[in-house]
Amino acid sequence: MPQWSSSNPATAGRYADCHIHSTLCGHAKHSLPEMLEGIVASGLHTAIFTEHLPLPEEVDPHREVSMYPQELAPYVNTLREAAERFEHLRNKGEDVPRLIVGAEADWLNQDPDWSVQSVKEARAAGVEVILGSVHMLDGWAFDDSAQIDEWNKREVDEVWDYYFTEWIKAVKTGMYDVMAHPDLPKKFNFIPDDPRVYYAEAAEAIAEAGILCEVSTGGLRKPCKELYPSQDFLVELAQREVGCTLGSDAHSIPDIGYGFDFAATQLQKAGITHQTIPLGPVCEGRVQRLPL
Ligand SMILES: [Zn+2]
Ligand SMILES: [Zn+2]
Repeated sequence: MPQWSSSNPATAGRYADCHIHSTLCGHAKHSLPEMLEGIVASGLHTAIFTEHLPLPEEVDPHREVSMYPQELAPYVNTLREAAERFEHLRNKGEDVPRLIVGAEADWLNQDPDWSVQSVKEARAAGVEVILGSVHMLDGWAFDDSAQIDEWNKREVDEVWDYYFTEWIKAVKTGMYDVMAHPDLPKKFNFIPDDPRVYYAEAAEAIAEAGILCEVSTGGLRKPCKELYPSQDFLVELAQREVGCTLGSDAHSIPDIGYGFDFAATQLQKAGITHQTIPLGPVCEGRVQRLPL
């Protein structure tokens, strides 16, 4: 039996976890079938599986952060079959989450054309929901603890400036449904004295693009020990009525639905009354809103 997820059984049915991984990406603890078992046991309303899409060979030569290109089609098929199975169980009255086929896509600032192509291929393969993420700047994975020394060679403000410039470029492509972990550069607590200027700019861009922003509980498990985005950032999003998803960024069963009661409280404090769930391309209005 898989370990029980850390979602709260009393409240899990109110939430969608819109960001979940498996060992397909090369750095998770549990396999896709194990994570699916964990999702069944979670009691969640909805789960969106969002494996990392294939990266170029030269960026991820040992497949440590993404799936192989030939794994994309079987990944989608496995999830489609599981989604049907879950639906069948729900129709029989069982308490099983709805499952949606998603993926997490990298915005590679050195190669925007590749980034666009990657999303096109994923959509063509049947991926319904795409998270947009900036994990790398000029090939430097600034969120990788093995590359943390690079932070000491740079000014924190410069890195944040560069990150948000690229993040906004990614937003403006309009091709992503949700922007994941929006203030990821704070992961190791390298934070500018006043980061609020970035929050306002970023919130403005995402509101204009009409896509969703993730509220990720993954940050609670990292050295920064807070949600991505921070509360000040969340307030900027709320003021512009940006729809927010909840995501655990789970790489193991116990992290499915992690910390969602806390996240819901923070959303409410910022004036956000609903969680938004992407059901397909958000630009086509494919969303559902669940009251928090
Ligand atoms: Zn990510
Ligand atoms: Zn992720």
